[in-house]
Amino acid sequence: MIPFFIQKLFFYTWWKGKMKMCGCIFCKMASHEIPANIIYEDDLCMVFEDINPQAPVHLLVIPKKHITSLNDAGDDDGNLLGHLLSTVAHVAKEKKIAGSGYRTVINTNAEAGQTVFHLHIHVLGGRLLNWPPG
Ligand code: 5GP
Ligand code: ZN
Repeated sequence: MIPFFIQKLFFYTWWKGKMKMCGCIFCKMASHEIPANIIYEDDLCMVFEDINPQAPVHLLVIPKKHITSLNDAGDDDGNLLGHLLSTVAHVAKEKKIAGSGYRTVINTNAEAGQTVFHLHIHVLGGRLLNWPPG
């Protein structure tokens, strides 16, 4: 029987290698390999500023675990998805846009304009946002 901490070490090494191999930029940001302006972080998720902001406040909320898009979230990701949404509400308060209002967007696949294939929630605020979106 392999001791638990050795199993954990193997898993961690395998996971890091997998993420490096896949070359996902948001995985690299989640593991601090690539720098980001981090607003919030915990064991499950990270929030950072978008590099090309479309509003005075434009944050990206990502799971640390690689999920390619909302289509790829499984039944066992329900708690994680809930946590991402409660984190949105938390950072919106921190950024003082909770009262005035903000928009959350998840682009999924080509016609929605998804360009980074690691699930992320856009949080946009600090100006009047038009509806319907383009
Ligand atoms: P999508 O188009 O996939 O919904 O959104 C991807 C977002 O990620 C875009 O708003 C884009 O500006 C942002 N983005 C892409 N690469 C980087 C990066 O290296 N750093 C940061 N902070 N944001 C990025
Ligand atoms: Zn990723």
